Amino acid sequence: MEKVVNLCKRRGFVYPGSEIYGGLGSSLDYGPLGVELKRNVKEAWWREIVTGRDDVVGLDAAVIMHPRVWEASGHLAGFTDPLVDCKGCKQRFRADQVAGARCPECGGELTEARQFNLMFKTFVGPVEDTAHVAYLRPETAQSMFVNFRNVLETSRLKLPFGIGQIGRSFRNEITPGNFLFRTREFEQMELEFFVRPGEDEQWYDYWRHARFEWYVRLGIARDRLRLRPHAGDELAHYAKGCVDVEYAFPFGWSELEGIANRTDFDLKRHSEYSGKDLTYFDEERRERYFPYVIEPAAGADRSTLAFLVDAYDEDEVEGEARIVLRLHPRLAPYKAAVFPLLRKDGQPERARRIYDTLRRHFPVDYDQAGSIGRRYRRQDEVGTPFGITVDHDTMKDGTVTLRDRDAMTQVRLPEDRLVEELGARIERP
Ligand code: ATP
Repeated sequence: MEKVVNLCKRRGFVYPGSEIYGGLGSSLDYGPLGVELKRNVKEAWWREIVTGRDDVVGLDAAVIMHPRVWEASGHLAGFTDPLVDCKGCKQRFRADQVAGARCPECGGELTEARQFNLMFKTFVGPVEDTAHVAYLRPETAQSMFVNFRNVLETSRLKLPFGIGQIGRSFRNEITPGNFLFRTREFEQMELEFFVRPGEDEQWYDYWRHARFEWYVRLGIARDRLRLRPHAGDELAHYAKGCVDVEYAFPFGWSELEGIANRTDFDLKRHSEYSGKDLTYFDEERRERYFPYVIEPAAGADRSTLAFLVDAYDEDEVEGEARIVLRLHPRLAPYKAAVFPLLRKDGQPERARRIYDTLRRHFPVDYDQAGSIGRRYRRQDEVGTPFGITVDHDTMKDGTVTLRDRDAMTQVRLPEDRLVEELGARIERP
């Protein structure tokens, strides 16, 4: 874990937030390479869940919603963690995360647990009174229920169908930590898939399987992933069933995504609290009902962390240690890097031209500093899957070498075939 954190800082994936002011709790900033990686994760999700399907549409809703939303959803009353204070060192802990009745830091006595609501509170407008209290959303899900009617009326979709959304959520976590794993502000990738009651179990199975396989297809080792069903007492108040996709992080098996059968709880509650009819009229069955909802809820930051941890590898090349991120080409920040072998004989100019052409199609890097071995290492370390080298032969016949990060094999091909060849290799299944 420490190696991944160091690499992230050193190569500009993730920085400590507000660092020049000494940092701020677990706030983290994505640097130039991190922002590309995370965008690619989100893009892979969006393509799989929204644009790649004909039964799901997207949404991008406001972070601050009407406060009644959180009454209806149950968050105002129940989105709490049990908080304990140490009477000695004054540190705070989640009661369910400390073993025994003593402080895990100093052994001091702990207070009784009290419920702490995780929603960030703010005020809308200049008046700071209770009438103007609002909350930053702790999940993106509710806006999809609140917009159910709008989507239904404007899209002409019929059950089963889904609404997908990627966006920021906020939770005032008592104990954030483990780098990107738990922060107070993070991005979620959530799908609310509306189905006929009675068909919910089969869709719950479908989505469990589909979501697990998504991580595998993007390169995560199957044996470091598992599906863990929630025990009865662990189930949220709205859920009939829930299973977590967990990854074997260096700090233990931990949740990447939860897939829940939320039943008709949310639509019913929002109907009740808003006074608006959120039922669905099923023309085939000639009946009106509240659809059931299957929700795969993933975290963009947690999955980015899992992809990073899983891709991290150290091996040896020609007697030298190398660090390599074996990221799937679709996730890699740069798809290729272009190198002139020598800094003379017109090679840099030729390499620049290739770089300029490729850059119109993919994010690509250019590097002419240091030995070619050093340049390969620098790209290996940030997961660039392909290296393109312009050499003496390029100047004669227009061919370049294409090196594969993992196999470390090289092939020669005409430079005008690069766009097509890279395109095919990036999309590898
Ligand atoms: P946990 O039990 O770890 O607090 P949760 O079960 O409360 O998570 P959900 O409410 O199911 O999480 O949220 C769905 C997804 O959102 C999680 O699987 C995770 O990927 C992401 N997520 C939730 N809280 C955080 C957080 N504090 N930091 C980063 N990602 C988060």
